[in-house]
Amino acid sequence: MGNYLFDLVKARIPAPEAPFALLDDGRRYSYADMLDASARSANALVTLGVKPGDRVAVQVEKSIEALMLYLGTVRAGAIFLPLNSAYTPAEIEYFLGDAGPSVFVCDPAKAEALKPYAEKAGAKLETLGVSVGTLFDKAAAASPDFADVERGADDLAAILYTSGTTGRSKGAMLSHDNLASNALALVDYWRFTKDDVLLHALPIFHTHGLFVATNVVLFAGASMILLPKFDPEQVFKYLPQATSMMGVPTFYVRLLQDARLTKEATAHMRLFVSGSAPLLAETHREWRERTGHAILERYGMTETNMNTSNPYEGERVAGTVGFPLPGVAARVTDPETGKVLGRDEIGMIEVKGPNVFKGYWRNPEKTAAEFRADGFFITGDLGKIDPAGYVHIVGRGKDLIITGGYNVYPKEVETEIDEMPGVVESAVFGCAHPDFGEGVTAVVVVKPGADITAASISRALDQRLAKFKLPKQVFIVDDLPRNTMGKVQKNLLRETYRDIYARQMKAGE
Ligand code: AMP
Repeated sequence: MGNYLFDLVKARIPAPEAPFALLDDGRRYSYADMLDASARSANALVTLGVKPGDRVAVQVEKSIEALMLYLGTVRAGAIFLPLNSAYTPAEIEYFLGDAGPSVFVCDPAKAEALKPYAEKAGAKLETLGVSVGTLFDKAAAASPDFADVERGADDLAAILYTSGTTGRSKGAMLSHDNLASNALALVDYWRFTKDDVLLHALPIFHTHGLFVATNVVLFAGASMILLPKFDPEQVFKYLPQATSMMGVPTFYVRLLQDARLTKEATAHMRLFVSGSAPLLAETHREWRERTGHAILERYGMTETNMNTSNPYEGERVAGTVGFPLPGVAARVTDPETGKVLGRDEIGMIEVKGPNVFKGYWRNPEKTAAEFRADGFFITGDLGKIDPAGYVHIVGRGKDLIITGGYNVYPKEVETEIDEMPGVVESAVFGCAHPDFGEGVTAVVVVKPGADITAASISRALDQRLAKFKLPKQVFIVDDLPRNTMGKVQKNLLRETYRDIYARQMKAGE
């Protein structure tokens, strides 16, 4: 049978000496080095007692060693479980308890604090940093030969916990074929070849950096410049050697603020991809003006890998996430009844295909609740499909505001605000309102020195939106709260402004 995912990787290696990764400390990894180091990791895991189907939980900083641990885990037939490096020990306790890993690998600096939690969960604690740590030593001493453990298309390769902005994080179970089918589709759709060099500045505990970026490189037999994190200095240093970059919208916003971003600086690039959070149409336009490149926006999630993408050839329409990828079906339904809606009608986005996960780890009820009887996964994102077939996202279902019985899609109000001169960006959300159920509330970031106030924003909106959609309160803020993937954390905004309408009523305003 072989090892489904890793056999596909091996079959695509252009040549043993072909480059796989260039590191900022000058080290170079060829594909032969990748095979050697991942085999050593696999041997080290097996020596620790890891068996097929075991979880290997990992909370480490980004490094080539961590990527080799991912591949070694897959080769050993185990399940890779990366955890956000920002999680606190108390949060880690939950993940270890839920996942029951046989090994937990952490940063050497955190071992002391995390030891009790590993012990409590019955996991062996190992450490891994850049070329240091107990697991690094074990891998270095292990054999570079490894007979890959047999795994089929439906066996699990990874569990990734969702970011958990609505309640506890859930472990999304991803099979070998979930990852392989998506990598193959993306290589083809985005025209990756062995000559590509990807600038890799994303974290590797998330689907974007771990699967989209890394697996696309592996499945194309391409190479990457592996940066420890996003840093504009590093990006400008390496752009002349790269052909492609994948980023979250914040990367593009930050790079636009830098005078070094020019057509010349990006002349060697053929593709900029954005995803994980909405890219402002303004950012798309500015990027095109400054560099001549149209950012290609795609849409995916932990549970489904990538679902849709703007085309490589053909129009990349700003504010849309493009078409369903080959093999992926997408539809929009009425969130209440599940009835399939027509073009341009807003509803729940549902997807089906080989990319869609196998369910939530040890949570059959939640899994059943999020799939339709015909196998479509209910993404939780609201959106529409326009007459040309482009998918538009208008926000998470949980962000929908119901005010006085009317539905307000935050994106519609945000788009109006964002188009006003002097506005950088905005976030619109609902807060409890004694009369209306929820009150539409907006926070707005404005350009320094811009002649714009909360009152002038409200006045301008009055001309453009139906009365029920108008924010009852507008606040000017310095910036929006974002998580590491650049997503605006509306849950934090709702929390911050929770009582505003109740207080207002009390004060008799
Ligand atoms: P995660 O599971 O952390 O990858 O988050 C997935 C969620 O991010 C999706 O359900 C969407 O709400 C959001 N998302 C991902 N890509 C995009 C995009 N291009 N535009 C808007 N939202 C996006």
